Amino acid sequence: MTQARILIVEDNRLVARDVQQQLTKFGYAVIGMSARGEDAVALAEQQRPDLVLMDIRLEGDMDGLDAAQLIRDRFQIPIIYLTAYADEQTVRRATLTEPFGYLVKPFEDSQLRTAVEIALYKHAAEKRLRESERRYAVTLSSIGDAVIATDRQTRIVFMNPVATELTGWSLAEANGLPLTEVFRIVNEHTRETVEDPAAKVLRLGTVVGLANHTVLLARDGREIAIDDSGSPIVDDAGQITGVVLVFRDVGERRQAQAASALALANARLEQALEGSNVGIWEIDFQDGDPARGAIQFGSAWKRLGYTQARPELLESLGIGIIHPDDREKLTAARQAYLSGAAPSFQVELRALDHHGAYRWLLARGAAERDHQHKLLRFVGSTVDISELKRAEQTALLAKEAAEAANRAKDEFLANVSHEIRTPMNAILGMTELALETQLGADQRQLLSTAKSAATSLLGIIDDLLDFSKIEAGRLELNAAPLSLRASIAEALRALALRAQAKGLELAWSVAPEVPDELIGDAGRLRQILVNLVDNGIKFTPRGAVTVQIEPAASLNEASSLASLSHASELVELQFSVRDTGIGISPDKQAKIFLAFEQADMSTTRTYGGTGLGLTIAARLVSMMGGQIHVDSQPGAGSTFVFSARFAKQRRPENTVRAAHPSTRPHASRWRVLVAEDNPYNAELIVRLLTGRGHSVQAVQNGRQALELAQAGAFDLMLLDLHMPDLDGFGVIEALRAREAGATSRLPVIALTARSRAEDRARCIAAGMDDFLVKPIESAALWAAIERSVTRSGGSSVLISAATLLAACNENAAMLDVMRNGVQSRLPSDIDGLERLAASGDFAGLQHASHALCGMVAYFSAPASELLTELEYAAQGGDAARVAGTLSQLRDLLPDLLAAMSGLSIEALQRSLDR
Ligand code: ADP
Repeated sequence: MTQARILIVEDNRLVARDVQQQLTKFGYAVIGMSARGEDAVALAEQQRPDLVLMDIRLEGDMDGLDAAQLIRDRFQIPIIYLTAYADEQTVRRATLTEPFGYLVKPFEDSQLRTAVEIALYKHAAEKRLRESERRYAVTLSSIGDAVIATDRQTRIVFMNPVATELTGWSLAEANGLPLTEVFRIVNEHTRETVEDPAAKVLRLGTVVGLANHTVLLARDGREIAIDDSGSPIVDDAGQITGVVLVFRDVGERRQAQAASALALANARLEQALEGSNVGIWEIDFQDGDPARGAIQFGSAWKRLGYTQARPELLESLGIGIIHPDDREKLTAARQAYLSGAAPSFQVELRALDHHGAYRWLLARGAAERDHQHKLLRFVGSTVDISELKRAEQTALLAKEAAEAANRAKDEFLANVSHEIRTPMNAILGMTELALETQLGADQRQLLSTAKSAATSLLGIIDDLLDFSKIEAGRLELNAAPLSLRASIAEALRALALRAQAKGLELAWSVAPEVPDELIGDAGRLRQILVNLVDNGIKFTPRGAVTVQIEPAASLNEASSLASLSHASELVELQFSVRDTGIGISPDKQAKIFLAFEQADMSTTRTYGGTGLGLTIAARLVSMMGGQIHVDSQPGAGSTFVFSARFAKQRRPENTVRAAHPSTRPHASRWRVLVAEDNPYNAELIVRLLTGRGHSVQAVQNGRQALELAQAGAFDLMLLDLHMPDLDGFGVIEALRAREAGATSRLPVIALTARSRAEDRARCIAAGMDDFLVKPIESAALWAAIERSVTRSGGSSVLISAATLLAACNENAAMLDVMRNGVQSRLPSDIDGLERLAASGDFAGLQHASHALCGMVAYFSAPASELLTELEYAAQGGDAARVAGTLSQLRDLLPDLLAAMSGLSIEALQRSLDR
């Protein structure tokens, strides 16, 4: 241990020396002695003793107390006073200088020694304490964490610079304030005040940590995410005397954590995208201007195979990389989306890859905007859809090829049917002509068989054509105004004869509530009915075939039938065709609607047929918005039921019944212009017409036909559609244009080998009055002529000779049966109608007129039209119209009966000849 060095300041030299001796004896080094305060201060400065023994009264101006004060303040050297005066005043002054001891002269050696020892010890201890405090102070101000210390009352006693900086309070301002005033903390999410951590430490007596998501509200309004802990300060007695709070700003740490999590997620995403065909791109906009921005192609760039930058491709928002044909599309889609006109951005385009080839990409993106809606960024993805596009392209080509093949097939079938029809025309026509000559019974039989074989061959061709159209999805309905009852009567007329010939009864009825004036495809409806009734007749050896039409269950949903969409109201009808024939076994019932299926292959041998009829019927039914099914029991007969939808006509249109009868005597001869380039057909038609006494002029081309027609010397023109020079359409167009505004109009019947509905529709639309499919059958020819001439008002006959001849197949016996039935019933039936009218039973009247009309229609168009008129007048409850129509009917009756009594095949033929 080093010797303690002591300075003695004493004006009494004896005392000074004595003290010096004592001290030296005790082992201390006396480094100087002085009798004046000023000298003492100077010596203390030079020598820096460990202790000064200071007399209070000294020589010179400065007394011991002042000198002690200076030495202590300047050099922190401990002082022990030596004095003989212990008056109160002196002691008080001395105390202010915080002396380490006080020796009153005279003192004992031992007293001196004890006082010096204590002072030295105390000074050393104080020094250590000061150093320690300094060390702590330096430590606290140099650490990064904020520290606040409080007393037991949680009042602030210390803050380090970091705490000052974070709270915004200086230590001077905060000193003594409650902690909660300076250290204001809330929960980041709930904004609720968090418990004062110092109070918590005092309460629990342990170290506590802060809850997560604590935010310090600094004095200047800053919010700082912090993390802290509080520890108690415990004294020697184990009492808590205060709290030390340590906290730090964790905002940056959180940001760093978030940034590293984001970087990790991005890296994973990138890794996942690496193996996919998805790329990412991004556009950063300047000043929110969608036209000014820089594109970063990111992984989208890599997906296109690029490894290096190609800035020239990325100019103008990357337009350079896009296929020139797709650039406009891309710009438009981007503009539409960014301007808000389109809800999303999605566009298919081609982009250049590193090989210089274009790849198909599906680009999608979303914009990012700030809270003022300013455009910041446009981020999106690209998916390589080249493979999909290739597949799509292949599928499209395949589809087009298939469609082309179907069109070719359809065209082929149409052409074949045309090619078959033309020679069939000659076969059928010539057979008919031959049948009109004097023949032996055998010859007539042979020719009749040939005619019926040719007719059925045509049926097969028509079925095949329809079937091919179904397969190609090209079968279409032609909706037009129709009279339901007239259409059905017409359809069943020819079949009635076949039924009759087999000894079967064919009956039909339409429920009175079924409206008559409808819009639909009458031709196709007829086709379905004829097919079902024909099958019924074919597969029924004895009994009856009945057709019943009634309203179907209510029609709830709107019909999808586009062709009827212009109509305001739809009706669904149910058609039942019942026979008492051989029936169909249950397992075959579902199959018969499939193509080429027959219930029993042996039926093919027995009854013939292709198995296409029901397939076509089922398809037509579904196109009419309906369904078809069969109920059948082998041996007990079958009932085919189908439904179909029609539109109601808004107002009655010019259907068959609208032609009002006229009892004008019929024109004796028709002057017919025949325009037909096929010599067989021309010859056939000319012979048929001239054979009945009409005058005919035949031409072979359209131009001649038009010239003659315009000369105006004809009652009727039969016009072939396919002719050299000017075809039928050219002729009718010019003709109708010329007739516009004129009072007279030449009836024109189109002749064509094409039997498709669209061909018919085209003819009618072009201004033709009717349409005949080659080969032309005489019955069809006469019926068409009668329709056209009657409709045009050129002529009307009481007895519909052509219809009647066709209906009885020019068979005298059949004619007799038909005529006798009608003739015997007609007067009493008309009486009955009048009675019903008189009694006001309009429902009965409607029913009775309908029933009578079905029978009379074969004989007289004017009479059947009056009966139809009567039926409607009764249905509408229009008494005046009923009375008027009945009186016309009554007027007509004598003439009709008279005309009927003279009827014979020859007379009918003659009447046509007249
Ligand atoms: P096909 O031209 O052969 O008559 P369809 O498609 O019209 O073709 O009929 C298919 C088959 O269904 C017929 O061959 C027959 O076996 C059976 N079939 C159809 N209608 C009837 C019926 N009314 N009575 C008994 N069998 C029928």
